Amino acid sequence: STVLVTGSTGFLAQHVIDKLLQRKYEVIGTTRSEEKSAFLLNNFKGKYPSAKLSFEVVADIAAKDAFDELLKKHPEIKYVIHTASPVTPDSAKSFEAGYLAPALNGTLSILNAIKLYAPQVTNVVITSSYAALTEQGNEPKGVVITNKSWNPMNWEDVKTWLDAYSVSKKYAEQAAWKFCEDEKPSFKLATVNPPFVLGPQVFDNSLNKQLNVSNNMLSEITHIDPAATGPQTMSPVLAISAPDIAEFHILPLENKELENERLFVVGAPLIAQKVLNILNDNFPELRGKIAKGDYDSADDLIAELCPKYDISATVKKASDYKFASVENAIVDVFKQYLSKYSI
Ligand code: NDP
Repeated sequence: STVLVTGSTGFLAQHVIDKLLQRKYEVIGTTRSEEKSAFLLNNFKGKYPSAKLSFEVVADIAAKDAFDELLKKHPEIKYVIHTASPVTPDSAKSFEAGYLAPALNGTLSILNAIKLYAPQVTNVVITSSYAALTEQGNEPKGVVITNKSWNPMNWEDVKTWLDAYSVSKKYAEQAAWKFCEDEKPSFKLATVNPPFVLGPQVFDNSLNKQLNVSNNMLSEITHIDPAATGPQTMSPVLAISAPDIAEFHILPLENKELENERLFVVGAPLIAQKVLNILNDNFPELRGKIAKGDYDSADDLIAELCPKYDISATVKKASDYKFASVENAIVDVFKQYLSKYSI
């Protein structure tokens, strides 16, 4: 079967495409330019020579009819995975043009195009975010985050780019669910609400000195003063490995239990001290260059400072899915990074 994956150049989307090709799906990806398509095609064809993979350029996902021609042209598309959305800080644009328009209009333009021109599509999976569930970094104390949670923040509360990003994700997800309620399309909708996604880039040659936004959190932790002692409390977050979250984009196509759900999964809670422990344990060459902190405090810090969450609603429906270790994901990030750059 053929799957359309938007935002193919993305860190996460490449993991999704990688798994789809491994499973012999046919994939049509979208990028914003021919050049980006050619780079990806080379990479994936190198890894999977017989892969059925092609790309289409969608220059502006915020345009109302952005996906119309593509869906008219490809009646073979059975599944749609929409990951494209602005993630990086972009000071060149207003919050509205930089985040809200592409996130919200992009979601509506693809859903409308499917409804109008691709009635054969049976399942749509949209990458939402943990940021649609709660205010990341400012989670209310004592609240357990689940797949029923919604971030209370609205557009009028937005002050920083991270606020703009978070509200854009929430509005886009809400608009998608409302679209399904109002329009009663023939496809099923699932959203995936990932916390921090950690893992190596699928291809070494797409690794940049500046890591992508979510892995960059790890990089910031390596920049804590190497002389720092005492428990390191930076970045109390929830994390998931990239291959796991990629899997949760594909499971709704294969498992009816998941096809109409908000999918919220977490691999592990994480805090700077834990990351430092993992790095000091696994990379002797980093010892002394990164902080040691207070090794034995990690578990207590996690229990005290990380958000509380309950993913059982999703995991039960996913046949008690077994998660990859976030620790391994972090080790893989640095194995790849240190083979090309130093910290
Ligand atoms: P990346 O920045 O690596 O990928 C973002 C993708 O969206 C790229 O393909 C990018 O295209 C595309 N994109 C961004 N802005 C636009 C736009 N205005 N018009 C068209 N395409 C655009 O980030 P991730 O892989 O981390 O994120 C992928 C998805 O996962 C996003 O929806 C994000 O919100 C979500 N997510 C990610 C998390 C994480 O921890 N990484 C956590 C929760 C959710 P281009 O390469 O051309 O810029």
